[in-house]
Amino acid sequence: MSQAPVNDGTGPAADPLVVLNKVNKHFGALHVLQDIDLSIARGEVVVVIGPSGSGKSTLCRTINRLETTDSGTITIDGRPLPQEGRELARLRADVGMVFQSFNLFAHKTVLANVTLGQTKVRKKDRATAEATARTLLDRVGVGAQADKYPAQLSGGQQQRVAIARALAMDPKVMLFDEPTSALDPEMINEVLEVMQQLARDGMTMVVVTHEMGFARSAADRVVFMADGRIVEEAVPDRFFSNPRSDRAKDFLSKIL
Ligand code: ADP
Ligand code: MG
Repeated sequence: MSQAPVNDGTGPAADPLVVLNKVNKHFGALHVLQDIDLSIARGEVVVVIGPSGSGKSTLCRTINRLETTDSGTITIDGRPLPQEGRELARLRADVGMVFQSFNLFAHKTVLANVTLGQTKVRKKDRATAEATARTLLDRVGVGAQADKYPAQLSGGQQQRVAIARALAMDPKVMLFDEPTSALDPEMINEVLEVMQQLARDGMTMVVVTHEMGFARSAADRVVFMADGRIVEEAVPDRFFSNPRSDRAKDFLSKIL
């Protein structure tokens, strides 16, 4: 049975940066995203939570078209995201993505990892790109690791490099898909702290996470998904203290 979604968000985004309008996606017979409407304001931090298989990763992947959609529209900063082509490549560069598995280039140094996209995609010269890379590596606390290879770093350090690499493209929005799920517990906070700082600096962020402490402290809005739908959205205080939908109540009772 499908209920109308509960929406206690802050209303329509005043200055929307990312807008999904009636987005649908199937994997074969599986309707994995169902009429997703989501508008994310510039500078807003949206935390997406929900049970495994509810479509959170697919949602992230559609926002930068790692997945195509079947219907609906996605706009980034007022420009519709096409299904393919050059304009897609341009707009995709505005969307930074950080995955659960850090996905660094194993055969390149940390510095090279953070420099590559800048020279190849953003067409910066090497010296400028390296200077930016070093600044960003310092900012995420791994400046001293610049000349090492990913395998020489801890998981927490690798994930911070992955964040620096995404930031190096000067994205308008950053998507994080369970960025701490593959980390040993003692490394989770160092990554969350970098994300907290990014949020405070005004970055627009979509964060899929099971870290409810992060959701409470950093999110402007929590979006709860189940079975391919947005079932409930609200400011974190309201969502965690008084979830309205049965699905959210059930989910929170299992994890809190
Ligand atoms: P979540 O991130 O919330 O765990 P996903 O977006 O990864 O959920 O997956 C949603 C559903 O879509 C799941 O049932 C999953 O098995 C399915 N799915 C995800 N990716 C694919 C794919 N490439 N092909 C077929 N099914 C997929
Ligand atoms: Mg996922």
